[in-house]
Amino acid sequence: MTTQVPKVGFVSLGCPKALVDSERILTELRREGYQVSPSYQDADLVVVNTCGFIDAAKAESLEAIGEALAENGRVIVTGCMGAQPEDIRAVHPAVLAVTGPQAYEQVMAAVHTHLPPVAHDPYLDLVPPQGIKLTPRHYAYLKISEGCNHRCSFCIIPSMRGDLVSRPAGEVLGEAERLVAAGVKELLVISQDTSAYGVDLKYRTDFWNGRPVRTRLTELARALGSLGAWVRLHYVYPYPHVDEVIPLMAEGLVLPYLDVPLQHGSPRILKLMKRPAATEGTLERLRAWRSICPELTLRSTFIVGFPGETETDFQQLLDFLEQAQLDRVGAFTYSPVAGATANTLADPVPEAVKEERYARLMEHQARISAARLQDKIGRTIDVLIDAVDADGPIGRSASDAPEIDGVVYIDDAPALKPGDKVRVVVTDADEHDLYADLAP
Ligand code: SF4
Repeated sequence: MTTQVPKVGFVSLGCPKALVDSERILTELRREGYQVSPSYQDADLVVVNTCGFIDAAKAESLEAIGEALAENGRVIVTGCMGAQPEDIRAVHPAVLAVTGPQAYEQVMAAVHTHLPPVAHDPYLDLVPPQGIKLTPRHYAYLKISEGCNHRCSFCIIPSMRGDLVSRPAGEVLGEAERLVAAGVKELLVISQDTSAYGVDLKYRTDFWNGRPVRTRLTELARALGSLGAWVRLHYVYPYPHVDEVIPLMAEGLVLPYLDVPLQHGSPRILKLMKRPAATEGTLERLRAWRSICPELTLRSTFIVGFPGETETDFQQLLDFLEQAQLDRVGAFTYSPVAGATANTLADPVPEAVKEERYARLMEHQARISAARLQDKIGRTIDVLIDAVDADGPIGRSASDAPEIDGVVYIDDAPALKPGDKVRVVVTDADEHDLYADLAP
């Protein structure tokens, strides 16, 4: 007798945090004996993991749900937008179920209701112990907490995902160890606020392989650094205690890279944004970090055209960028998110002014970033190979996070493959990327 294996299609939208949620759901599905189908037509139903961060992401999510309904007809919605089921049902009343962010059990319960699993055969349905990954095999996102204790006025994440809930250090380290054992060469630590890690657990001591480890950023970073993979920290705010992490970078345990979302350079606008760690000390802090670890790459994101932003505020932002000499900068024009308190602020900035300021900021920063990259010419650096195309291998250095930063193009190195780590000499640079030869 043959048993029909139930097949689930999966659509994953949104940020790296949502990607981690998708990986967990997929791992659970496989563990229970479901097959993951690559096409709508073969699937018995489709799970859509949505993003609801900004209105454009919501529109994309609704479109993806519509496509899955048209192509397959049986759709379960989960993820950030699932926190507002009425918005989904208003457009797509035919969805089978809607569950919210991080609601793994609820998604699985909905799948069980609409597509019962067959009896699971552990010998046939073994899931690799590191779970299912959606990123290339040699790097992986490691989510250390959910939710956020801040209440930035432009953000609705806390209302969707709740207050900070940290994963105990032993659990995070166990996952990291399995990932490295499975061939992962780079761990990308993510959360909404990495610097706040463990505060909800009062930095409780947990255990990893019988050893005590505090659930706290410095201790976690040090332990992660002992695994031998690159460790890259994202979404770190410039709090005083982050100073402790910088020596770990100078020691080579953690990549000398920090992704610090600063959002603005005007104290008045930062106050309106209700940003964490938004004090005048930021520039001094960045300088102190660089004096401990001169190799430190700083990445940040900024919002231009926030309600109330005057030309003076904007100039302050440009001055801040001039002084901070950040290596990488991403910027967005402010767009209101339904439910965010910033929508009620006075003096919205006209769209044309937002666009004009955005263009000025990007031009201003491009000069700074390009000059910082030029300084690397002649240096020998380590590179992790991401891909090999017709023109040769493409990798990333310690200064480049996947998808958001630049890359390193390596000349004349045909034998390299994704996941290899090599030393190269930088021969040229443009605004974003480096060009290099293998080191002799
Ligand atoms: S720190 Fe602010 S922007 Fe980031 S998730 Fe928390 S509330 Fe949102």
